[in-house]
Amino acid sequence: MPKSTPADIEGVDFPSSLNNWVDGLPDDLLELVSKIGKEGGGVWIVGGSIRQGLSGSIPNEYDLTTNFRPDKIMRLFPNSIPTGVDYGTVSVRLNHGSKLFEVTTLRCDQEYLDGRRPESVIFGNSLLADLERRDLTINSIAVDLSRQKLYDPFGGCEDLQNGIIRSVGDAKTRLSEDGLRVMRAYRFMDQGSAGFWKPDKELSQALPSCQLMLKNVSKERIWSEFRKILSGHHASKVLECMSVDGTLNTIFYGSKYVIEGQNNLTGLNAGDMVEARLALLLRKVDSEKLLRSMTAPKVVINGVSELINRFTHIPSCDEEKQLRLYRAVLGNRLNLQLACESAIDTIGIEDVKQALVSLPENQVGNKALADGNWLLEKTGLEKGIKLGRLKGWLHRIQIERDLASLEQIEECLQTLSWEDGDPLGWPRLAWP
Ligand code: ATP
Ligand code: MG
Repeated sequence: MPKSTPADIEGVDFPSSLNNWVDGLPDDLLELVSKIGKEGGGVWIVGGSIRQGLSGSIPNEYDLTTNFRPDKIMRLFPNSIPTGVDYGTVSVRLNHGSKLFEVTTLRCDQEYLDGRRPESVIFGNSLLADLERRDLTINSIAVDLSRQKLYDPFGGCEDLQNGIIRSVGDAKTRLSEDGLRVMRAYRFMDQGSAGFWKPDKELSQALPSCQLMLKNVSKERIWSEFRKILSGHHASKVLECMSVDGTLNTIFYGSKYVIEGQNNLTGLNAGDMVEARLALLLRKVDSEKLLRSMTAPKVVINGVSELINRFTHIPSCDEEKQLRLYRAVLGNRLNLQLACESAIDTIGIEDVKQALVSLPENQVGNKALADGNWLLEKTGLEKGIKLGRLKGWLHRIQIERDLASLEQIEECLQTLSWEDGDPLGWPRLAWP
């Protein structure tokens, strides 16, 4: 591999803990680094992938920094995407590959105004200056592949070993420069299988006062970090810290959230966990309005409302009809709902779970046996509300009684007084 431009700081040889990481580097990445080196540039791998490599996990993405300007990177790698050229970032794609690498031009620090990210950045040539403006020591480590050197001017490796979250430089100053770093500090406390890492004294003292800087940070950036926090392994501990520091109060605009129950949530995938945690937190407020103002996506907003609206409305464990209806209506959201009910200690929920486990599947599944045409023929009704609602009513009965044939449905139809009455009042396949 051609030697790239050297850094302006002393590095050390790769520690043996990086061996697996080096062996696992994708070919595209090696080609990218070689090409910049051959062109006479400097290029360093930085950020999360080094952190993960040093702690023995496989990175899912790679961030790099270079002294080449974004336009030069675009010329060298024409298939790239200019994702954030104003901030110096290009998502580089090699000709034949589809993997993307975030390549950002070295930056100097710049004055931050009222805790917001600066409108533009100043490009630099110093790796040290670039590492200095990063948020945490564990995120300020860089690697030169062509020289097999590691640069760690702020003791990030030691903090990684000791499991400590520490700001680069003075915590208060750094958090005040960009309020989002408050959210990032909480997020990095959660180190997945490596545990929950505490911030050092200085950072933990800075968080309660600096969290108010979040008022100046865009809602989208806050949401993006918050979502990652909610899906983390140790989210309940992180939320607890955020609550004690006043941060939850700030990002929820003073709404009366509920913190209890978070550590009872288990066994959900990351997406469901986000919904479940939000539903627990926001069960006493207008979650829809709050999440909308936090720029949460519609699926999340709706999912959370659905959970909250059903909270504590559970079937009776000795009513098979109710159990069947509940199971069919909730469908693939059943486990998610049950996990939340357990977490908030809904009375009788453990018996209901048990009853659901012992309840045999419906013989013909959950799909309606009687379709519109069949019903139209049997009743002489025209297409419209009445036919639609009658179909829904029959579907509900099919599920509740576990009917398995059209003959059974027809028998049932004969017992319903569908000729009269307001169809909007008829039972539907719904819960509660
Ligand atoms: P992951 O990608 O696993 O979430 P990461 O550390 O790579 O973790 P990114 O958000 O991808 O995090 O950012 C890449 C790097 O950029 C970080 O490691 C950090 O050095 C720096 N960084 C990101 N955001 C900020 C910020 N708001 N202030 C200072 N440095 C930041
Ligand atoms: Mg990253």
